[in-house]
Amino acid sequence: MDDFLQQCRAVIGSQYVLIDNADREPYETEWRQRYRGQSLAVLRPASTSEVADLVKLCRQFKIGIVPQGGNTGLVIGGVPDSSGNSVVLSLCRLNKIRTIDAANNTITVEAGCILKQVQEAADAGQRLFPLSLASEGTCTIGGNLSSNAGGTAVLRYGNTRELCLGLEVVNANGEIWDGLRGLRKDNTGYDLRDLFIGAEGSLGIITAAVMKLYPKPKAIQTALVALYSPSAALDLLNLSREEFGPALTGFELISAICVELVHKHFPDIPLPFSDAYPHYVLLEISDHESASHAAQLTESVLEQALESGMIADAVIADSMSQTNNLWKLRENISMAQAAEGKNIKHDISLPSSCIPDFMKTTAQLLEGHVNGCRLVCFGHMGDGNLHYNISPPVGVSDQDFISNQEAIHRLVHDQVHAYHGSISAEHGIGSLKREEILRYKSNVEIQMMHAIKSALDPDNIMNPGKIL
Ligand code: FAD
Repeated sequence: MDDFLQQCRAVIGSQYVLIDNADREPYETEWRQRYRGQSLAVLRPASTSEVADLVKLCRQFKIGIVPQGGNTGLVIGGVPDSSGNSVVLSLCRLNKIRTIDAANNTITVEAGCILKQVQEAADAGQRLFPLSLASEGTCTIGGNLSSNAGGTAVLRYGNTRELCLGLEVVNANGEIWDGLRGLRKDNTGYDLRDLFIGAEGSLGIITAAVMKLYPKPKAIQTALVALYSPSAALDLLNLSREEFGPALTGFELISAICVELVHKHFPDIPLPFSDAYPHYVLLEISDHESASHAAQLTESVLEQALESGMIADAVIADSMSQTNNLWKLRENISMAQAAEGKNIKHDISLPSSCIPDFMKTTAQLLEGHVNGCRLVCFGHMGDGNLHYNISPPVGVSDQDFISNQEAIHRLVHDQVHAYHGSISAEHGIGSLKREEILRYKSNVEIQMMHAIKSALDPDNIMNPGKIL
């Protein structure tokens, strides 16, 4: 291995080949700090050609490569296993905005650009880059593409796949594929771009991308709506789609316990209603006319919903600080739940029409399984995506509760499957759900995935042990 490391140093410089335990530790530890793997070294190249040279060396020495961006992934995909046979290849030094073509509404960025940096570059060019996640100050565009990240504006702009027009990729042979096309139409054979998006680094390394930009809306209007049931939320979703049309940007479902936990652990965040309700929806529209148009439209739609009894109450934000406070209620749910103790998480999607029925039947089954368990359910209902997390009953220790984890995953995922949903809506598979997908995907689908993997990465050096 000394020979391998020596050659890596010759390619990128000694200071970018990290071998000390303390230097490697942050790259080997996943975001929630529940798992640490072990790598041979962490490699930090600064250009596409350096990535290509490193991949050739890894192939020659048969060493696995774990690509890593911001390391905010939630499925143990961007960290190595415990064998110590792989390198972590950090893309963070490939962090240049290459070009903005405002007339074509595109931006070409390197994979290690932080998402926030891309949003800010677009803003400076009088355009909007709409991908938005709570991890946007740390996650990278290469990680977003490789996990096909979703976030809070999927309803209006689609997930990362829909935002990408072209890619530059280093394949498992160490060759560079320049697919950096800014085209909205290109039917010239198999769509290789879409193969690498969502592949979690298991087929090649994304080094740069052409992403779509949009005109900046004139106004954003946010409202928090109180409702009595998930089926009322579904009715409101459909009404909002009809009335707001493509302006509807966010539609987040929040159950009462989420608000209670946020209030308990973040008491400075104001509660907009004096009464408590069983469910809430955080709704946002992007308006291309004016702030007053956005406010009037929102008011008239919510009045209609109130008069028909669809909703119980609503607060329409009338300042940026109120908008931020409403979003803080949503964005701090995960932190509040973590502060409360351990919980069992699910990142699921369903046809939105099935959500009320799924929530009812699954809650009944869970109650039969663990009496008093608390459903901390929230998420991007507009895309059918729920974070369906379960906290222990009050008074039950974390340890006792977590001993039920496998059975609870099975119960929830079987339900999701029965409703034709997905057991991973936006976080991916990584090594966390690798066994689980075998239960829900057909043999035909798994075999086709293996065929693609072995055609593009015959030596299995690209993020080994992830997805498949
Ligand atoms: P990493 O974690 O470094 O890597 C993710 C995967 O991509 C790994 O398999 C890795 O090997 C691979 N990879 C990374 N870079 C490359 C590359 N250049 N080429 C090939 N493969 C690569 N996700 C959502 O979808 N929606 C959310 O709303 C959301 N909210 C979050 C909120 C918080 C607080 C946190 C911590 C995470 C959240 N996530 C969310 C998950 C995570 O932020 C996303 O999956 C994000 O896209 C990962 O980007 P990253 O740069 O951190 O990737």
